[in-house]
Amino acid sequence: TDNLLYVDSLKTYYKTKTGYVKAVDDVSLFLDRSKVIGVAGESGCGKSTLVTTIFRVVPKNAHIMSGSIKFKGQDILSMDIKRFRKEIVWKEIAYIPQASMDVLDPVYKVKDQMLETILTHEDVSKAEAMERIYKALENVGVPHEKADMFPYELSGGQRQRIVIAMSLLLNPSMIVSDEATTALDVITQAKILELMKSLQESRKFSMMFVTHDLSLLANVSDSIAIMYAGKLVEFGDVEKVFSNPLHPYTQLLIRAIPNIAMRKKKRLVAIPGYPPDLENPPKGCRFAPRCPLAMPICNEREPELSRAEGFHYVACHAVSKK
Ligand code: ATP
Ligand code: MG
Repeated sequence: TDNLLYVDSLKTYYKTKTGYVKAVDDVSLFLDRSKVIGVAGESGCGKSTLVTTIFRVVPKNAHIMSGSIKFKGQDILSMDIKRFRKEIVWKEIAYIPQASMDVLDPVYKVKDQMLETILTHEDVSKAEAMERIYKALENVGVPHEKADMFPYELSGGQRQRIVIAMSLLLNPSMIVSDEATTALDVITQAKILELMKSLQESRKFSMMFVTHDLSLLANVSDSIAIMYAGKLVEFGDVEKVFSNPLHPYTQLLIRAIPNIAMRKKKRLVAIPGYPPDLENPPKGCRFAPRCPLAMPICNEREPELSRAEGFHYVACHAVSKK
């Protein structure tokens, strides 16, 4: 197939004094060229572990137990790390990390950080690079003169825009954004999201957009991946997942989205209970202890992700029994 990114049966665990935290536990998903995948799920479900594994910046105690990640057909997990950093990082895959404003080094001017990104990867003159930097700033709606400023002289929204401009400097095929807008106020958040979407449409890169806020994904994503406690519980076309959520967890998440039109009629429903301890997860389905539809088998056997119809997959005993 023509997948740009193909994550196959990935397991990334964290080693602790007492065992392994199964943060990403047998996750498989794909992303096609020029498409956007939204990855959502509660805090601690393994979203950042997934993206740091893709970008190969996992914490020291992380262990990739099994699985592979193919990007343009090459296995980027087993690729020599030096080669990965030289050929893939920024040039092919750009990463906007959680708390990405920290990406900007406080002691350097914006333009110096952007220059370094270009000059360490490409053999171009400084003048050419500066021209590209000004263009990149224009693309994200930041005035040229901000290039001469230090990060602390900029607003949160401006810094975030600059990080986005930096991620696009080398024209990558894919951007991975981990909660890129979470630290911003709601209005700035909406503007940045709109900006990312319009850049994605005009420049046709693929994007993995990670957020704990499922409501953000309806307008940006082509596909949705829902994670729960280290597992992928639902994966499919955005319209299918929103209009016909199959996993009870996805159904509850969607019900919990405050709908402005309905706010008066509908109460916000929080999902009762807590996610399990990932060092000692439940034997069967990890959602079973909180699941309104749980049956005996759910506590016994792990449900596998399987196709419900078309591009729509779910891991739930209750659904596959229907
Ligand atoms: P959030 O929405 O809060 O960013 P997340 O979905 O990104 O959460 P991760 O950061 O991937 O979640 O964490 C997944 C699990 O791994 C959590 O239970 C977390 O406590 C655990 N974890 C993360 N980093 C480490 C580490 N270095 N050592 C041990 N456990 C870790
Ligand atoms: Mg995270």
